[in-house]
Amino acid sequence: MRCCDNCFVESQIRDIIISQGVAGKCELCGKNRDKTIELNANSPIIYIIHQILDVYSVVPIDFPKKLQGRIAQIIHDKWNIFSPHVSKIKIFNLLKELFPAEESAKPGFFSKNVGISEHNTPGYLKDHSILKDGLWSDFVTQIITKNRFHTTLIKCDILKEYLRCLVKELPASYDKIFYRGRISKCQLTQDQMGPPPASSASSGRINPEGISVLYLANNLNTTLYEVRAMKYQTVCIGEFKLQSPIKIIDLSSINQISPFDENGDLIKDYPLNIEFLREISKDLLRPISSENHLEYLPIQYICDFIKSLGYDGVEYHSTMDKGGRNFAIFTTNAFKCIKTYQINIKNILYKV
Ligand SMILES: [Zn+2]
Repeated sequence: MRCCDNCFVESQIRDIIISQGVAGKCELCGKNRDKTIELNANSPIIYIIHQILDVYSVVPIDFPKKLQGRIAQIIHDKWNIFSPHVSKIKIFNLLKELFPAEESAKPGFFSKNVGISEHNTPGYLKDHSILKDGLWSDFVTQIITKNRFHTTLIKCDILKEYLRCLVKELPASYDKIFYRGRISKCQLTQDQMGPPPASSASSGRINPEGISVLYLANNLNTTLYEVRAMKYQTVCIGEFKLQSPIKIIDLSSINQISPFDENGDLIKDYPLNIEFLREISKDLLRPISSENHLEYLPIQYICDFIKSLGYDGVEYHSTMDKGGRNFAIFTTNAFKCIKTYQINIKNILYKV
C-alpha cells in the first residue's frame, strides 16, 4: 500500500516518508503527492505501527466497556499515528493488509473488540493516568470552585513524563528576534519594555496575578494582535534577543506527542492520557474574555507545575493570530530588549 507523509502525524513515520519518499498516488487520501512510500512487510513503518498492535489483544466478555473497541477505531481515536482525515475504514484496510499475522496469532483481532489487558488489573488506571478517573471538566471545576492549590485529580509525576517529550532547547546563540508590544502614546525605553514588576503583574493565560512572566511573540504581527491594538492607537514594540541558553516546553505540540518516546515507557499508558493532553491543547487555543480570569486557572496550574520543574518557559499557539507563536518566559533575564520603536495602527481588518 502506497501512503504519503500528509496522511500521518507521528513524527518518526513522517520523517521516514519525507526522507525516503518519491512522487506517487497515496492510497489513503487518493492524492498525487511528492513524498509517498510503499508500505510492505520490510518497511520500518510497519515495525513502528506493530509496537502498538502488539500491546492489544482480544478482550474477554467482562472487560470494561470504556477500555475496549475495534482496533481500527482505537488507532483512529486514541493514537496520534494517522492524520485525522484518514478514516477508520482506511485504517482498518491498511492494518488488515499489512498485519495478517495479528489475526493468526490473536483470532478475532480485526473483527472483535480489543483492549490492553493490563488496564483491567486493579489499581492500574489510578496509577498510570494523569487525570485520576475523571474528566478534564472535573479538573476545571475543582480548581476553579473547590480546591485551587492542592487539586487531588492530577498525577503530576505522570504528566512530567509527557512534558519531557516537549522540551525545546534554545542556545544562547539563537539569533531569531522575539517581540513584545505595549499600547503607549509615548516611546518606551528598553527597560520599560521588560516584564512588569510582580506588584503590577496582572493575570494572563500563563501566569496568575502577582507573578511576572515575560510574554513574547515570534513575529511583529502576532504582537499587534496579542495587545489587541485598535485603529489609530500607537503601540510601542520591543525587540528581544536571547542572552543565555534556555529549555522551554513546547505546549503547541502537546496534542501531537508521539507514543514512541525514547524509553518506550509511554506505549501502554498513552491511550489513557492522550485525551487529557488534547484538552490542554484545546484550552490553550480557547479565546478567553479578559474579564473572566478564573478561566485561565487550569492552564496556569499546568504552567506553574512546568515552572516548578525548572523549565524556563512555555511556547504555545497564538489564539489571536493564526500561525503566530507566543512565548511565556519564566526566566525573564534570559532575554534582553535590544531595540524599541513605535507603530501607528492605520487600519484593522475584521473578518467573520
Ligand atoms: Zn495521503
